[in-house]
Amino acid sequence: DRLIIAVDGPSGSGKSSVCRAAATQLGADYLDTGAMYRAATWYCLDQQVDLDNEDAVAFAVEELPLKISTDPQHQVITIGQTDVTEAIREPRISEAVSEVATNRKARQLLINAQRRIIDESGFIVAEGRDITTVVAPDAQVRVLLTASAEARLRRRGLQLESESGAAQSAEALQRQVLERDKKDSAASNFTEAADGVAVLDSSDLSFQETVDSLLSRIAA
Ligand code: C5P
Repeated sequence: DRLIIAVDGPSGSGKSSVCRAAATQLGADYLDTGAMYRAATWYCLDQQVDLDNEDAVAFAVEELPLKISTDPQHQVITIGQTDVTEAIREPRISEAVSEVATNRKARQLLINAQRRIIDESGFIVAEGRDITTVVAPDAQVRVLLTASAEARLRRRGLQLESESGAAQSAEALQRQVLERDKKDSAASNFTEAADGVAVLDSSDLSFQETVDSLLSRIAA
């Protein structure tokens, strides 16, 4: 039996950790599609592709030698022989990723790759921005994970603090998160749930409560 769980949400909604935990508990595979856009961006920068050149970006993504693991407890992303698991989280990637994500040809290529991974698995939690609507609209479970801007900024702050050992200024954080939201909404509209997509607002939920709420929708 196939069971596809599609989860969309903006950055800072906590969707990656929530989806990884849910997939682990279910014994399902896990796909972070954002990581694929990040990897494509890493490759373009590595190949010194001019991100303003649409055809050059599409060409690079077409030959992108990307491998992404679907084990929720062991995320490994490689490009050719290079392990880019950590590197794709760098700020330079976050800043440039929207340019690749808004490239129509590149997007279509990555969507096709995502569909193949989901199809091959058959039991997977896939998360991103357009999974419930474009990549896997036929998924048995479709959830939009949202959180208020305050909650997202708060979490992003905590996350950055633990990564860098120093809290960033609230203003700088706000700018980063809201800037990326704005760029992303040009590519896909994830702030409103499409027909048949359930909204899970995690603003006032703990991490475990959010995971449980997602899992309860799968059992239902
Ligand atoms: O989820 P994450 O923040 O890592 O995603 C990185 C970027 O990839 C997003 O800011 C967005 O531009 C793009 N993305 C997308 N469609 C998806 C997943 C991610 O456009 N399904």
